[in-house]
Amino acid sequence: MKDVVVIGGGVLGQLTALALSDRGRQVHVLDAGPVRPPASWAGGGILSALFPWRYPEALTALTRDALSAYQAIGERMLSAGGPDPEARATGMLAYAGDDQAAALAWAARHGVRAEAGDAFLAAAPLPPKPGSVWLPGVGTLRNPRLLKGLARLLPACGVSVERPVSVSQLTPIPGGWNIITDKGNVTARQVLIAAGAWSAALLKPLGVTLPLVPVQGEMLLYPAGTPSPGAVLLAREGYVIPRADGHILVGSTLRRGTWDQRPTAEAAEALRGMAAEIWPPLAEVTPVAQWAGLRPGSDRAWPWLSGVPQAPGVFVAAGHYRNGLVSAPASAALLASLMCGETPATDPAAYSL
Ligand SMILES: Cc1cc2nc3c(=O)[nH]c(=O)nc-3n(C[C@H](O)[C@H](O)[C@H](O)COP(=O)(O)OP(=O)(O)OC[C@H]3O[C@@H](n4cnc5c(N)ncnc54)[C@H](O)[C@@H]3O)c2cc1C
Repeated sequence: MKDVVVIGGGVLGQLTALALSDRGRQVHVLDAGPVRPPASWAGGGILSALFPWRYPEALTALTRDALSAYQAIGERMLSAGGPDPEARATGMLAYAGDDQAAALAWAARHGVRAEAGDAFLAAAPLPPKPGSVWLPGVGTLRNPRLLKGLARLLPACGVSVERPVSVSQLTPIPGGWNIITDKGNVTARQVLIAAGAWSAALLKPLGVTLPLVPVQGEMLLYPAGTPSPGAVLLAREGYVIPRADGHILVGSTLRRGTWDQRPTAEAAEALRGMAAEIWPPLAEVTPVAQWAGLRPGSDRAWPWLSGVPQAPGVFVAAGHYRNGLVSAPASAALLASLMCGETPATDPAAYSL
């Protein structure tokens, strides 16, 4: 019998596997692979909630140390021969509109550096806009590189990863769980369900019904050499993210309730129009790539990180929606503490089933 099986090799599953392995646990990750591509690959990599002052404390608590956590993981990945995930302070200019005072008050309360965005806009150069807020400490991450690096780091830490393998059901056995997959059965003392948008189907037979919904999102990639705004630009309609290598990412659309991951011409047109409004040099440039992903959406703004009361030994990481990359390191630490019977550094009550 395995010690711990993690279902799902997105950022939540892999970072929790790493945190468990750091606590001396033997961890085996099962991931469905290309038939269910992870949102963790598709995401933009902004290490902040969008308009973070509009979120409850339960989300803020999971997001505040994301940049330093990813920098530490990045160093471990490099030592294991992986790529640099380029976790760095890029800064974010947010068009906050009527929210500017609330944004600056939120930043002061949480020790986040923030100021009115006029000086940034003048230097960009961009026209002045009332209500803009400059957050110089906001980080970004190259999440596809993070996944590549974790694929090297996890085995180096003794975590085994099996892919592609699809889990259909969990059934209780004495002292643990039987995990039924399309490649045979695996048994484990503890199981973590971290299957992103697909988690609801595994939870339901255990008697857990959460308001989870897939929310498809699309992104565009602009070529290196496009003039850079030098920081993330965030407007109500979307965002522009400069990469260290000169590429620019533009996102993202929100299509609720669909399992369709194919990119669409409508989304490309909407994103191109929005990008040209936010960062005018993009009006002259043709994107070189477009992709889509399925966010693990829900009807609330913070995730579930919890044991399943009806199924002792089973845990869940679900509903990270638009903030799974930024909150994954703290979510993983919280889950690993719960699974090891430790007192977590973050109060688990808000995330409990
Ligand atoms: C366009 C877009 C932009 C985004 N931008 C950002 C951003 O800038 N910042 C941010 O913080 N977040 C962002 N997000 C959200 C973020 O990507 C997600 O919240 C996060 O990646 C969710 O991670 P996860 O591990 O829960 O799920 P996933 O990454 O989806 O991983 C789930 C994994 O489970 C596997 N799986 C599913 N079912 C099974 C099964 N039955 N058996 C075995 N394996 C299974 C799948 O194959 C998959 O690999 C964005 C998302 C999208 C789509």
